[in-house]
Amino acid sequence: MSNQIHTADVAIIGAGPAGAIASALLNRAGHKVVVIERQHFPRFSIGESLLPQCMEFIAEAGMLDAVNNAGFQFKNGAAFTHNGNYSFFDFTDKFSPGPGTTFQVQRATFDHLLASEAQKQGVEIRYGHGLTAIKFNDSGATLQVQPDQSSAYQLNARFVLDASGFGRVLPRLLDMELPSDFPARTSVFTHIQDNINSAVHPSLPEHDRSKILITVHPRYNDVWFWLIPFANGRCSMGVVGESHYFDGKEDLRACLQALVNDTTDLGPLLRNAVFDTPVQKLSGYACNVKSLWGKNFALLGNAGEFLDPVFSSGVTIAMKSASLAVPLVNRQLQGDQVDWEQEYAIPLKRGVDTFRHYVSGWYDGRFQDVVFFRQDKASPKISGMISSILAGYAWDTNNPFVAEPGRRLNALVELCRG
Ligand SMILES: Cc1cc2nc3c(=O)[nH]c(=O)nc-3n(C[C@H](O)[C@H](O)[C@H](O)COP(=O)(O)OP(=O)(O)OC[C@H]3O[C@@H](n4cnc5c(N)ncnc54)[C@H](O)[C@@H]3O)c2cc1C
Repeated sequence: MSNQIHTADVAIIGAGPAGAIASALLNRAGHKVVVIERQHFPRFSIGESLLPQCMEFIAEAGMLDAVNNAGFQFKNGAAFTHNGNYSFFDFTDKFSPGPGTTFQVQRATFDHLLASEAQKQGVEIRYGHGLTAIKFNDSGATLQVQPDQSSAYQLNARFVLDASGFGRVLPRLLDMELPSDFPARTSVFTHIQDNINSAVHPSLPEHDRSKILITVHPRYNDVWFWLIPFANGRCSMGVVGESHYFDGKEDLRACLQALVNDTTDLGPLLRNAVFDTPVQKLSGYACNVKSLWGKNFALLGNAGEFLDPVFSSGVTIAMKSASLAVPLVNRQLQGDQVDWEQEYAIPLKRGVDTFRHYVSGWYDGRFQDVVFFRQDKASPKISGMISSILAGYAWDTNNPFVAEPGRRLNALVELCRG
């Protein structure tokens, strides 16, 4: 252990989207921020489809030009297919104010870009440094940090933000983990050279690279695929289902391709695709915590709760948590009393709970009936309100489907089911 003691106003664990945005915002407020990041960037991460709402947080952190100019695939909506039925939401038709477009990004590049922008603004990021232990005290916390190339050292900070994603460092160290309400699901995914060049089905339109494509399995409506096109002729693609669908499947690539080939829409679309990248599997990623904060710390992004990938809400929630937490950290460091439950946990959970209703409705089929309801019969106003939620505006309580997500969704389902 090195004898040198390092200090910061705020220590942030993890330099993913939550950590990068929080660090830049705190740095702008004049605080000395040290980010410790276990890995070296660029590094792979799953979760490549952004939602327009997150562009507001990127702008708030002073990174909008860098993201707009990075050459990422433009995104303006989400499309859905099931047995030849096709439906889409154009996010520019949404009800809530704010950006209606965003990007589909290789996360290695995107996360590196955000972190580098934070560094350019003056944030110190220590790559290859992992948090191994922590002690809280009246004036903040002492973190034990282990660099991969040198001896462990202590970092003293007045406040700690845990943005460690699925690392879930503080929930594990402080025994704050809770199981998710959702069943354990598995995802099998990869990146492909997609070679998509034409329409695949007479009833389907040309493939639209500016939308994520969600395909429901023809027989199991709780199994679905994502196809997220990038700007370079490649796609992220994967399948999600309860873990039993994948039991005993050792050859992940064969498993993924067999499931894709079951479909009448995605299979033909990917008929010339080259599966040239190792296929990966993640299981049981949905998680929760007993509390999103404690004395001198708060949990951001996935370090708090992760619901499900179906509506691509993870990065948006991560950035929203950073945007909500930073003014409170700022106030606390200035000596104000902050009510973290009222001012952070409850407002953050408001949007997370909106998504929770739609995730539940997706897997039990209610929201799929809304999605595949004939678009020529749908009310544009209501479509715009649903589009808003799918675009990430899950905190806009002017939207009746956010103000009362459960009741409104059920009423809409009844209408669609006729
Ligand atoms: C199958 C699947 C598909 C998904 N698809 C989407 C999608 O399309 N769109 C979307 O928005 N979201 C998606 N998500 C969710 C998304 O990946 C996450 O919500 C998002 O990355 C969370 O950001 P974060 O900043 O909280 O954490 P992360 O991006 O995970 O960053 C956390 C960082 O903390 C570091 N870290 C961990 N432990 C330590 C430690 N001990 N010390 C120091 N550093 C540490 C890690 O190395 C990492 O760099 C998906 C998730 C899954 C499972």
